[in-house]
Amino acid sequence: MTGIADTSFDPVRATEHLRFVRRIYQMRTLGLGTGFFAVAGVLYEHDASAWVWALLFANGYLWPPLAYLLASRSVDPEYAEYRNLVIDSALGGIWIAVMHFNVVPSALLAVMLSADKISVGGWRFFARTATAQALTCATVWALLGFAFAPDSSMPVILASLPFMFVYPMAISSAAYGLARKVVRQNKQLDQLSRTDPLTGLQNRLHWDDSATATMTYCARSSKGAALILIDIDRFKEINDFHGHLVGDAVLRRVAGTLHEVVRLTDTASRIGGDEFALILMDTGLDAAVAIAERIRNAVEDARFDEAPALRCTVSIGVATTGPKTISAAMWMRHTDTALYRAKQLGRNAVAVAED
Ligand code: GH3
Ligand code: MG
Repeated sequence: MTGIADTSFDPVRATEHLRFVRRIYQMRTLGLGTGFFAVAGVLYEHDASAWVWALLFANGYLWPPLAYLLASRSVDPEYAEYRNLVIDSALGGIWIAVMHFNVVPSALLAVMLSADKISVGGWRFFARTATAQALTCATVWALLGFAFAPDSSMPVILASLPFMFVYPMAISSAAYGLARKVVRQNKQLDQLSRTDPLTGLQNRLHWDDSATATMTYCARSSKGAALILIDIDRFKEINDFHGHLVGDAVLRRVAGTLHEVVRLTDTASRIGGDEFALILMDTGLDAAVAIAERIRNAVEDARFDEAPALRCTVSIGVATTGPKTISAAMWMRHTDTALYRAKQLGRNAVAVAED
């Protein structure tokens, strides 16, 4: 904690806030556009004066674009929009009193103005907006001499129908859209947490899961799998001579080679700085060694535009699952020992784990 407030502008958050303002604008336009008729039915029966009609028109059709302008041009659009939502509820309270608590449109207004607040800001926000609504309602009711006429006629009920049908559908549709977005973002997060950003291969985290799952699968199905560990030779020197950017290009090239050899059932991971692992399902030792040789040759033949003189090689260890390999850690240890031998053999070599 530095004690200094973070006032930096975050364009991603700002865009999200503007999207929120836009979404509320659409909901408000729809809600107030149809809610207008629910209140209008009662005003018509009350033979309301022109200025009351003017206020209702302003609330129904001028307030949504005005609220949108106020929020979208505010320095804090999210905060401004929440304030607009409180104003929505306060205005709703006024109309309930003006309608003398005509039961159908009043109940509709109260329910809709509560449901959308809960969907946007939860129960605490609902409590705030409901308080504002109760206050304006009580004030205007007192000014009108506590007029109370709850009976709803058929024309008033009919005028309320568009609001009754359209707005809940819109709230549900918005909630469904948000739920789908959350599912999509969770998938993306899961994918990101398992992927190495430099190479696009699976990272160490996912590698551990894959190795354990493969061992379980092999034990249950009495099938075999092969593990190939690949380590770039003298990678530190490549970084030192050619720089880290070229080093990164080498890592990507090796990863590209692995991408080319894996089948749908195999997994390729980057498990360390310059270390890669391949799990090949249903693969015997000979086939695994052949694939390891293909990888070794492909890396040896690779040329780099960024450093034409650069020659790069890899050392590879291979081990298959067997009766003595009882855990993923043991499988890894066997393969690692083979890789160590490949380095001892002078590098640019493939070594197999001894039984
Ligand atoms: P050996 O032949 O024995 O494997 O020697 P080596 O030089 O490859 O030694 P080692 O495997 O220990 O070196 C790994 C190096 O990888 C050290 C580190 O600076 C480098 N490295 C780790 N991650 C990255 C990365 O993301 N990008 C780059 N460019 N280098 C990395
Ligand atoms: Mg190395």
